[in-house]
Amino acid sequence: MKLATYRHRTGPITLGAVIDGERLVPLGDLANDMIDLITRWGALGDEARRLATAATDTVPLSAVRLLAPVPRPGKIMAIGLNYADHIAETGAQTPANQIWFSKQINAVTGPFDPVDIPKVSRFVDYEAELVAIVGKGGRHISKEAAPGAVFGFCVGDDVSERFWQNRTAQWVLGKSFDTHAPFGPWITTSDEVGDPHVLGIRGIVNGETRQSSNTSNLVFNVWDQLAELSQVMTLEPGDVIYTGTPGGVGAAMKPPAPLKAGDKVRIEIDRLGAIENGFVAER
Ligand code: ZN
Repeated sequence: MKLATYRHRTGPITLGAVIDGERLVPLGDLANDMIDLITRWGALGDEARRLATAATDTVPLSAVRLLAPVPRPGKIMAIGLNYADHIAETGAQTPANQIWFSKQINAVTGPFDPVDIPKVSRFVDYEAELVAIVGKGGRHISKEAAPGAVFGFCVGDDVSERFWQNRTAQWVLGKSFDTHAPFGPWITTSDEVGDPHVLGIRGIVNGETRQSSNTSNLVFNVWDQLAELSQVMTLEPGDVIYTGTPGGVGAAMKPPAPLKAGDKVRIEIDRLGAIENGFVAER
């Protein structure tokens, strides 16, 4: 299934199932929000599928504003240097250990919402990423058990302010500006995605394809990532995991090419759809 969080005109923020790529079936009566739906999916999943199949009440996708599928996740974790071509372009070595940082919750924004060029920024950049959404989660999840702990997948842009990212050893500030974690356009559930490590992934700036790779090139795959993180922290329903970006970021271009106000960044992943964010000067 494809599950979205959306708002229709001035109505409440609610849940829906995307069908045939053009319509939503409202699911707002099933659960309070996406985290609630994911948490109780074992009890609610069959009813959600029944409603989506019946499609007695639908809203055109074109008439709604899609929000981040999980508007207020408990946490956002992101891995650095996780595709060989991106590691090469940054001049780094393939890490022996997974390099984790967090993006703060304030950074979440919708799949088609404006993204800030912050007042204090010097170099805003894009990073096309497969995003995993935690399902039942847990602690000490083995690689073998990890597929059962993931609810589904989204398309994400790990928007990064390189000056703030690299002027200190910790990347958190450079990765956490308001609006710098767009993802969506909806959650495609794991059963519909199948193997998440065979998906074409593209980052496109103003119509020019800058990043084009495949999730088969991940250094540490999604299951490795869940196993590592869950040794440390309890993964909870709706937690968001950015799984790394391939080569082709603006910082590695010759000459380096920061994003500027007016730019449009589109991220596409096979089977998961696309997000597209216009960049605007922070007001
Ligand atoms: Zn990233």
